[in-house]
Amino acid sequence: MPKVNHNRIRQKYSAKPTEREKHFHRWCIDNFPCACGCGCPSEIAHHVLSTMPEKRWRRDHEIVVPLTAEHHFDLHLGNARKIEAEWGVPERAVELRKQAYECYVL
Ligand SMILES: [Zn+2]
Ligand SMILES: [Zn+2]
Repeated sequence: MPKVNHNRIRQKYSAKPTEREKHFHRWCIDNFPCACGCGCPSEIAHHVLSTMPEKRWRRDHEIVVPLTAEHHFDLHLGNARKIEAEWGVPERAVELRKQAYECYVL
């Protein structure tokens, strides 16, 4: 039997964040409040789980939003994709990435 080559086009996971991506995550946390809309200072960069055309990989280090630790916990505890949609997380992630490119953060 010949071995099947599935030729995965998309990597399931991207590699570890680069220094630039880490800097972007820090920039999001330091400059923007929690993406749920609560207005609290954010503590964590959450990698968007929802499927969206801008995402290169399932875990794309350029597609993140800042959240408080508590709301990050809530999101992962619940139906994450549904909550992301309710909070407008995919749209926010695209906005933040755009802004980061404009500010030469990314
Ligand atoms: Zn919040
Ligand atoms: Zn997360």
